[in-house]
Formats: sequence, C-alpha cells, structure tokens
Amino acid sequence: MMRKCPACDKSFKYVLVDNIDARTDRLGNGIVYKAITFSCPYCGAVLSVQLDPLAVNADLVKKLRK
Ligand SMILES: [Zn+2]
Repeated sequence: MMRKCPACDKSFKYVLVDNIDARTDRLGNGIVYKAITFSCPYCGAVLSVQLDPLAVNADLVKKLRK
C-alpha cells in the first residue's frame, strides 16, 4: 500500500509522532487532553491528530483506582 503525503506528494513508510495538547479553550482555561500528531517525515505536514491512547488509558486506570 502506497502512502503519499498530500502536502509534498512524497510516499512514506512511516510517520513521525509528536505530543501536543488538545484544548477545549483557546486560552487554556478549559480541559486539556494529551494528544498526538502524525506528521510527514519529509515536510513535517501534520496528517492526523488524535487523543494519546496511552494517556487516555493512564487516566482511566487512575480513575478506577479511586
Ligand atoms: Zn510531506
């Protein structure tokens, strides 16, 4: 399966993962979730963002222990 970057049109076999905060408020007064971005390894264009599944799991375990 070929994966092509929509920004630079290069095909890639992996993506770069980075951490980013996903906020419900622009000023940071709301809820802040831990999220991750998937970026093109060549031009750095962000291809996708999603909540960090590891952080979501860690939060869930914390809540269940209470
Ligand atoms: Zn690219």
